Amino acid sequence: AKNKGRNRYDIFNPIGRNQAIARLELENDLRKAIERQEFCMYFQPIICLRRNTLCGFEALVRWHHPSGKMISPLDFIPIAEDTGMINELGWWIVRASLRQMRLWQDQLRVQSGDRPRLWVNVNVSPIQLKQANFAQGVQQILDEYGLPNFLLKLEITESCLLESTGTENQCLADLKKYGIKLCIDDFGTGYSSLSRLHELPIHTLKIDSAFVKDLQTEYQNGSCHNSIASTIIKLAHGLNMDVVAEGIETEEQKLVLRSLACDYGQGYLLSRPLAEDAVYDYISKNCMD
Ligand code: C2E
Ligand code: CA
Ligand code: CA
Ligand code: CA
Repeated sequence: AKNKGRNRYDIFNPIGRNQAIARLELENDLRKAIERQEFCMYFQPIICLRRNTLCGFEALVRWHHPSGKMISPLDFIPIAEDTGMINELGWWIVRASLRQMRLWQDQLRVQSGDRPRLWVNVNVSPIQLKQANFAQGVQQILDEYGLPNFLLKLEITESCLLESTGTENQCLADLKKYGIKLCIDDFGTGYSSLSRLHELPIHTLKIDSAFVKDLQTEYQNGSCHNSIASTIIKLAHGLNMDVVAEGIETEEQKLVLRSLACDYGQGYLLSRPLAEDAVYDYISKNCMD
């Protein structure tokens, strides 16, 4: 756990206190953070591998703790989920992400005279799909910012397809009705059934970074055509879906993925997640030719 969130509980864990207390403090802080809106969104570019062009972003939440530290979502999303706070935070995330997209579309239209079609992927936790009015809520925010539905994709995990209760099923059906697209995150790490993939409005499969990492050795062995990444790409295309590879860190991985006809890529090699201002510069440089 140590390498994941830097200083995972350090700031909450003075000597002599146990993790349970630290966790309670984090929970309290999180509650206050939601009231005070101490969060911000970072945006990681998603690139078309074939044309090498910017196509969209994944929105990733960050917590700016009053202590000055930036806390990783890996540390607070699970707590937000356990406590149910994820619902309120989740609405803030959808709103903040779409507000930014709206802003960029406007600013860039002024510059280019033409509206770039950059989409945004927003992560959604399975808990959020248990809210009866989830799809309506998302549609309302899209309308509020005057954004067409096709610019938004919700990233959900395979577990959302599996353990679906009545409300979750209703929610997925509503999303389909509204034409709000879904993207399956970390595909291949869970167990989703092919028939479920087919009946839902799933537009994109996202290859987990673990499988992208494997490509490095498979490339050296000349076996990338039998790789899991390659299998997922063929499956996605067979089902008429797009496919995004995440966690691309090397030029080799990018080249292999392109040769396997993977549609889009995301990762530190292409760009780190960017703060709002940096996104604006990034779009101006990469999208205005
Ligand atoms: P994820 O959805 O799989 O997001 C990808 C994570 O990989 C992000 O970490 C991103 O910064 C990181 N990443 C991107 N490129 C690379 C790369 O080339 N190499 C490596 N090693 N990592 C890369 P981040 O932002 O810390 O988010 C971690 C997880 O927290 C996300 O995993 C997602 O499950 C969750 N999360 C983040 N933002 C949100 C959110 O707004 N809502 C919800 N429900 N969950 C979120
Ligand atoms: Ca994601
Ligand atoms: Ca992912
Ligand atoms: Ca992942």
